[in-house]
Amino acid sequence: MADQPAPSDKYTVAVNRGFTKTIAKKLGLPRPAILRRYAADAPLTVGPVLVVSDGASAGDADAIAKSLGSWDVDVRRSTEGADDVRWGGVVLVGTAAESPEAVSEAVLTLGGTLRRLAGNGRVVVISRAPEAGDSPAVAATRAGFEGFTRSVGKELRAGATANGVQLTGGAAADSISALGALRFFLSAKSAYVDGQVLPVGPADDLDDVDWQQPLAGKVAVVTGAARGIGAAIARTLARDGAKVVVVDVPAAGESLAAVANEIKGTAVQLDVTAADAGTKILEATRHLGGLDILVHNAGILRDKLLANMKPAQWDAVIAVNLASQLRINEQLLAAGVEGLRIVSLASTSGIAGNKGQTNYAYSKSGVIGHTAATAPLVAELGGTANAVAPGFIETEMTRSIPFATREVGRRIIPSLQQGGLPIDVAEAIAFLSSPVARGVNGQVLRVCGQSMLGK
Ligand code: NAD
Repeated sequence: MADQPAPSDKYTVAVNRGFTKTIAKKLGLPRPAILRRYAADAPLTVGPVLVVSDGASAGDADAIAKSLGSWDVDVRRSTEGADDVRWGGVVLVGTAAESPEAVSEAVLTLGGTLRRLAGNGRVVVISRAPEAGDSPAVAATRAGFEGFTRSVGKELRAGATANGVQLTGGAAADSISALGALRFFLSAKSAYVDGQVLPVGPADDLDDVDWQQPLAGKVAVVTGAARGIGAAIARTLARDGAKVVVVDVPAAGESLAAVANEIKGTAVQLDVTAADAGTKILEATRHLGGLDILVHNAGILRDKLLANMKPAQWDAVIAVNLASQLRINEQLLAAGVEGLRIVSLASTSGIAGNKGQTNYAYSKSGVIGHTAATAPLVAELGGTANAVAPGFIETEMTRSIPFATREVGRRIIPSLQQGGLPIDVAEAIAFLSSPVARGVNGQVLRVCGQSMLGK
């Protein structure tokens, strides 16, 4: 559903409606926006999109503008005569810039539009990653866009976000890899992704891209899918056209069956720590035509300060969150599954660390580590392996956090000032599993509203 606030986040609902909205405004209280989320019949962006570039990148900017036009976006290449426009997005293209001075004009033009960026508007910066052999000036020019993008994200308000597409390995600015990432960041599907710079490499062009049903004909397995984020992932992959096999422990069998019924999928009761879990997953997909997408979502918490940590608490978290993924991947690689797209659930705790979560953070950092090492192995068979790191997501698990901690946790998120929803994580996973994301491999995409707090 579009424009839906987190159901448990009553504060965000209150400060966006009627009398309480007026009071919050007068008192200068934080007023988190109601984020726009994907709806099939809604336009891609909330208004016209401006494409700006430095002089050297103008050719790339033209090619990108042409593609945006083919998506029925109202694209502009200049701000002239657009004083009254509320921009739905601004795309800054700096792919061919060779000196920091060369990008000033384009960057300041972008700055001049920000006061007229619509609520839930988008800034997307398209640049190239620094590469071996770059001159210091070129490396500086390219690297600068990263800090720039993260900072713009922190300056935007009203549900607007800023993200970057960083081309690697000579990927063309208008390649399907680059355009797929650009479209994701411009769309409502990236509502809770903010301040992220995603490296995107080259991939074979696609004959035909189905933007409505990108996963049509694919078979996906989602572990831990009986509730929470896993159930949202299963629903989203099914919405995008995939046949979905949902996996969870036998104790969650009833809710698992309900999710499977809802999406006309298949339920498989399986503990992911079982020694033959990978083989079981392959067996479950054989009659559907084989396995295309695997989402390692099953995860548990056993929070304790390390000084008080019992062996069982450490070991259970490592077994479910990390060792199971390693074993399953090994079995799938050994079986030679071709074109497999793996997405693993990491966490911002695994990046920033979190008190009381040494076991959990070890497991989630471990996921990031094995994703980087698995990526080249699956790539040999035409696949990809990526991770998604959620921040504060409103689920059963986060509802168990004490009220005050939860409330502070939400509001200190720099520009969005609220937790994300399971659908936000699911949208990122659906994007990373899709054919247009073939050029994204070994990466970690944070879905955290640019915060580092949470599990
Ligand atoms: P959740 O507890 O609501 O759901 C986890 C599911 O995994 C449950 O259905 C559970 O039965 C299943 N599961 C647990 N152990 C299993 C096993 N051995 N085999 C099969 N299934 C098993 O959790 P959630 O909040 O939806 O989190 C889902 C994933 O996202 C986890 O990996 C979690 O670490 C990660 N994550 C969540 C958040 C958040 O804020 N909620 C933030 C960062 C990362």
